Amino acid sequence: MLCPYCGHLKNKVIDSRTTKGEEVIRRRRDCLLCKRRFTTYERVEELPVMVVKKDQHRERFDRKKVLQGLMRACEKRPVSMAAIEAMVSAAESEVMGSPEGECPTSRIGELLMQELKRVDRVAYVRFASVYRDFQDEHQFVKEIHSLQLEP
Ligand SMILES: [Zn+2]
Repeated sequence: MLCPYCGHLKNKVIDSRTTKGEEVIRRRRDCLLCKRRFTTYERVEELPVMVVKKDQHRERFDRKKVLQGLMRACEKRPVSMAAIEAMVSAAESEVMGSPEGECPTSRIGELLMQELKRVDRVAYVRFASVYRDFQDEHQFVKEIHSLQLEP
């Protein structure tokens, strides 16, 4: 992304926003050389939306993968497909709204857990056990206790 004023290649994204239903992301950028600001408009489908894994490797945000994870957690629970879809979309907007178009998977995981906790606590504990990689029953008990302390 070249600066329109000085042609410098490096800049910092200072603000990034999508309007719901729109396919364009508007980014405010700050040129690292001349310090002037400019705005870019990027089409969503052209943007590589990446998630950064724990080991720092990056992969494309996969809506289907998130959906499958949530569906597994919500199996036989009274959670509608619409509610699950809404959680997937929340995760997707989180990634798309991130500066530089990437976002750590941990942030997506935490966001999904927050949503699930509101929607269905059994599904939440299931999801958390996979996501946080519970090794034994003590971690389940701990998580359930911490839920009981919440209103
Ligand atoms: Zn510049």
